[in-house]
Amino acid sequence: LEVIASVEPRIADATRQELADQRASLKLIASENYASPAVLLTMGTWFSDKYAEGTVGHRFYAGCQNVDTVEALAAEHARELFGSEYAYVQPHSGIDANLTAYWAILAHRVEGPWLQDAGVKNMNDLSDADWEKLRHELGNQRLLGMSLDTGGHLTHGFRPNISGKMFHQQQYGTDPETGLIDYDALRAKAKEFKPLILVAGYSAYPRRVNFAKMREIADEVGATLMVDMAHFAGLVAGKVFTGDEDPVPHAHVVTSTSHKSLRGPRGGFILATEEYAPSVDRGCPMVLGGPLSHVMAAKAVAFAEARTPEFRTYANAVADNAKALAEGLMKRGTKLVTDGTDNHIVLLDVSSFGLTGRQAESALLDAGVVTNRNSVPSDPNGAWYTSGIRIGTPALTSRGFGVDEFDQVADLIVHVLQNTEAGTTSAGAPSKASYVLGEGVADKVRAASAEL
Ligand code: PLP
Repeated sequence: LEVIASVEPRIADATRQELADQRASLKLIASENYASPAVLLTMGTWFSDKYAEGTVGHRFYAGCQNVDTVEALAAEHARELFGSEYAYVQPHSGIDANLTAYWAILAHRVEGPWLQDAGVKNMNDLSDADWEKLRHELGNQRLLGMSLDTGGHLTHGFRPNISGKMFHQQQYGTDPETGLIDYDALRAKAKEFKPLILVAGYSAYPRRVNFAKMREIADEVGATLMVDMAHFAGLVAGKVFTGDEDPVPHAHVVTSTSHKSLRGPRGGFILATEEYAPSVDRGCPMVLGGPLSHVMAAKAVAFAEARTPEFRTYANAVADNAKALAEGLMKRGTKLVTDGTDNHIVLLDVSSFGLTGRQAESALLDAGVVTNRNSVPSDPNGAWYTSGIRIGTPALTSRGFGVDEFDQVADLIVHVLQNTEAGTTSAGAPSKASYVLGEGVADKVRAASAEL
């Protein structure tokens, strides 16, 4: 930090402050974690300075021998960790991984056959008129993904996202009574819509998914099954999700981030069957430019960490702790979406406290409890104010919290919510944002957190 401070002291100060803040609060954001010193240090090296567009052994730049070592090792670790036929470790983030996967699937399913029919190997050999026809065909494909308000991600066909614009999209949701995926309803929708791509995976669904069933549905309608395991990759790596709940043996393509429950550097990666590998391997130049070599190196380190027995113990604890948190919240009278959890996420409906998600999030933050507001299914408060709070266990489990500590975390959360009232606007009208937190509550909760 002294070196940084000699150039821009405010960045050194902010970095120091971030460490202090992360230590002084309960980090319960379901997508966050604490990467190991080995992962963090690997990200801060001179690999950052190297350009390496292309793939291992096939670069558009000279002098990439060390990047080749790094990328090959990261891919090998990923293949072994997840048992996949192929791994691509270049995507810079989860969104990049999804966009790359979509275009790889389009290349494999639409562009390849189209070029073959046209009798050309390379799209640059197409006439301008044929090129326009191919572009039209690529833009005329269908995607079926889980809706944002029932737990899906923006990139699964949400209209404002590029995935909602580049495909004709429809969304599936959850059963309004149970909050669970209704596979029969999904099958019926898929049969009617006939998507090219069926996307499974979630950001805010507190339950496991049956990927064998998802594959069956995809096969029935001729769709490619793409699973976005960004959130639960750590539970797959740690063998908490096995059999029908492990996406890798069932999906054609699996996308992920490396930084959430997997506890690696910020980044993305893609796993695929041999069939899809050549298309995914063209991520650059299809979607990506130069890979972040320093981050690929850190992915290799994180994958190596995730292969250890200690990581399996950690992943099991993440799920056990989520159950303890859910039970702790429910026994104190709160309402959870799906009445529980069997992954790393708890989705708390705060409407019974007379609060919006925004008010609850802010009050909890004042007390040093860091969560994020999240829609609940058919949320009357929309995606900005919301009626829910999403709580995740990966980060505090990395700090060594167990089921007893998570029961106490549940107690602190309920204490804050019970002592928060919805506020009013300056004109005295009801407000969905302002709130009044009871006197002394924040200090009391901060002091109790420091003891955990
Ligand atoms: N996919 C899922 C399911 C996610 O939850 C997220 C992040 O929240 C992403 C993709 C995007 O990841 P990133 O923020 O790295 O682009």
